[in-house]
Amino acid sequence: MNIKNNIILAMDLMDILEAYEVVEEISDYINTIKIGYPLTLAEGLKSIGIFKDNFDFNVICDYKVADIPETNSKIADLTFNAGADAIITHGFVGEDSVKACLDVASNYNGDVFLLTEMSHPGAQMFLQGVADDIAKMGLEMGIKNYVAPSTRLNRLSEIRNIVGKDSFIISPGVGTQGGDPKDTLKYADALIIGRSIYASNNPKEAIESILNSLK
Ligand code: C5P
Repeated sequence: MNIKNNIILAMDLMDILEAYEVVEEISDYINTIKIGYPLTLAEGLKSIGIFKDNFDFNVICDYKVADIPETNSKIADLTFNAGADAIITHGFVGEDSVKACLDVASNYNGDVFLLTEMSHPGAQMFLQGVADDIAKMGLEMGIKNYVAPSTRLNRLSEIRNIVGKDSFIISPGVGTQGGDPKDTLKYADALIIGRSIYASNNPKEAIESILNSLK
């Protein structure tokens, strides 16, 4: 995926008009948006089309899909049918569930991002213990796209080692959760940034300052 300025906006506002206003302010700087349950449950799957039709963005749906294969297929089908370019799926549910998402994605020429380890402190309780195995499974399945945390660079770097330089890693946790943009890009291909931009009084200045910090 071609991600302008290596920044993905995590749009977790729950009002499409507010979200639209923020995006309009910074649309010169980005071409990729990640939406998840907050916006989708509040405003529906039509949110995807709004960012595609008005901004021609790449839309990554962060639905952290984690169900049995049959249900994962339904979720992925609805998501890609609504216009998404990519879906994020959990890996801990195992190969068959992840494959269900991959199969649907291939029908739409879409991408699957495999979530290895999450960025919040609680991820250390359970998920961290299996994150390397999830990354190894992804590699064996031929998956090219991964999500790994910017909040623990040692873990991000370990996951990069496992999936290799040819894989594409996007990394959440930058800014509000503590991750540093420049350090994260030593290991990741793109940053996922939400509140530091959309919750700022001036989203345009916020993204400009992040871009300056990357120089
Ligand atoms: O606001 P903030 O920059 O913390 O947003 C981070 C975004 O990335 C949120 O949408 C969050 O749900 C998501 N995310 C994350 N950690 C993961 C996967 C996704 O923070 N491992």
